Amino acid sequence: AKDERRGTYRFFEPGMDSRLTERRQMETDLREAIAEGQFEIYYQPLLDMTKGTISSFEALVRWHHPRRGLIPPADFIGLAEDNGLIVPIGEWVMRQACQDAAKWPDDIGVAVNVSPAQLKRGDLIAMTMNALGAAGLEPHRLELEITEAVLLQDESGVRSTLDGLAALGVRIAMDDFGTGYSSLSYLRSFPFNKIKIDRTFVAELGGASDSLSIVQATIQLSQKLGLQITAEGVESQEQLNILCAEGCSIIQGYHVSRPVPLGEVARLLDHYNSG
Ligand code: C2E
Ligand code: CA
Ligand code: CA
Ligand code: CA
Repeated sequence: AKDERRGTYRFFEPGMDSRLTERRQMETDLREAIAEGQFEIYYQPLLDMTKGTISSFEALVRWHHPRRGLIPPADFIGLAEDNGLIVPIGEWVMRQACQDAAKWPDDIGVAVNVSPAQLKRGDLIAMTMNALGAAGLEPHRLELEITEAVLLQDESGVRSTLDGLAALGVRIAMDDFGTGYSSLSYLRSFPFNKIKIDRTFVAELGGASDSLSIVQATIQLSQKLGLQITAEGVESQEQLNILCAEGCSIIQGYHVSRPVPLGEVARLLDHYNSG
């Protein structure tokens, strides 16, 4: 592995690492994208099965690259985390999502993904307050989704940041639950309101795997701790039926709807929440 690392130093030699070249090009392009506003948020509904209505939408960023077309977040968020550009991108997403949600009915929330690099900065609380204030959005309508990995990195004042966000009245969800080194004690000692069961477990429901047991245990845990529970990546009626039978009442996935542009949110609300 050390030798591979060393290879990256041969940057200026002929035949240089094309992956590195590509990363540098993408970094340049990302800076341009931030300056020129090439991002768009898609919204995916979370359906509350106890009422049959949409309770919130998750904000999912997309990049309209002028030459490469629509780029999904999986292809650029990792790099943006490494080079810090996730901070301005994440701020844009938060501000835009709050503004969009402020135009929706009062009982509809919005969930925004917050990356570790953002959480480790001292100014996330102030940035969140500003976004809410500028949009005129009530704090309880905003939910921040964080992954558990960041909680392991104790250096950083992550705890006091999360406590401060909770004190604002913002909601906090643990995303991708079960994929990392989850310590159950985190669920108690940090101010979470919700657990999102990772879609890898949902995908295997109905097949021969341990996923059902994991899902059952997670749902029971959420009930014991008084947390809301959501399942992501629900693609079939069978998965939905199993989740509902086990007591998971909030469902997100292609079976309900793919993430849609802002302009299609009203149509979804019309379909699920009218009457
Ligand atoms: P995530 O937070 O776990 O978001 C859920 C992802 O699952 C989304 O992918 C969504 O489109 C996808 N998905 C939803 N339903 C289904 C389904 O039924 N089946 C399958 N196979 N997939 C489904 P997307 O939009 O490509 O985002 C990927 C990841 O990028 C997100 O995973 C999140 O970690 C990250 N991301 C997206 N937007 C942002 C953002 O604004 N900030 C940060 N920091 N990360 C973001
Ligand atoms: Ca998420
Ligand atoms: Ca997730
Ligand atoms: Ca994920």
